Amino acid sequence: RSFNDYRISDEIKRALTVLKYETPTEVQTEVIPLALEKQDLVVKSQTGSGKTAAFGIPVCEMLEWEEKRPQALILTPTRELAVQVREDLTNIGRFKRIKAVAVYGKEPFAKQKEELKQKTHVVVGTPGRVMDHIGRETLVLDQIKYLIIDEADEMLNMGFIDEVKKIIKQLPSNRVTMVFSATLPKDIENLCHQYMKDPAKIEI
Ligand code: AMP
Repeated sequence: RSFNDYRISDEIKRALTVLKYETPTEVQTEVIPLALEKQDLVVKSQTGSGKTAAFGIPVCEMLEWEEKRPQALILTPTRELAVQVREDLTNIGRFKRIKAVAVYGKEPFAKQKEELKQKTHVVVGTPGRVMDHIGRETLVLDQIKYLIIDEADEMLNMGFIDEVKKIIKQLPSNRVTMVFSATLPKDIENLCHQYMKDPAKIEI
């Protein structure tokens, strides 16, 4: 197994070399080829499994640099995770000059608004603040092609699931959706059934 087995560009491969990612982890081996085929995915995997790069690598690969409006939306339950995911995607996409912005509560809205005015490929955020930006039209979602819901069971535990559904309803329907979760409670299964296209299920 090697990252050279995947149809990913030299820009992404170089970034993986800098990060010292030599061999794909199990979740990456399962997810990357299917994600590159634009298959919707429900992935049951733990933190520490390399799940961020499992979606980060194919998403960075598929993003079009020229497009000014966000093409990928990643929802996370906490700001710490939002910041971490923003960092990881920035690193994976560095040679493609991918711009990722994190939006979360308890940081001034105006700062994030200014960031979102610049060309942004990826928005990573917590549901409440993402909703605020949508409501104030500082975040436009009409070019979103990839939606990732990270730690979906935590979203449920923290009471964010209705906000997540409201956000999903604002997105173009011709998108790829990937859900990552350590457990798959009924409410998450239902959400996947309702908002995804024939998702493949991966259990690590
Ligand atoms: P995650 O599950 O996304 O939180 O990742 C756990 C840790 O594994 C992070 O510190 C990553 O930087 C690291 N990591 C992810 N993929 C690889 C890989 N293929 N090789 C080595 N380390 C990796």
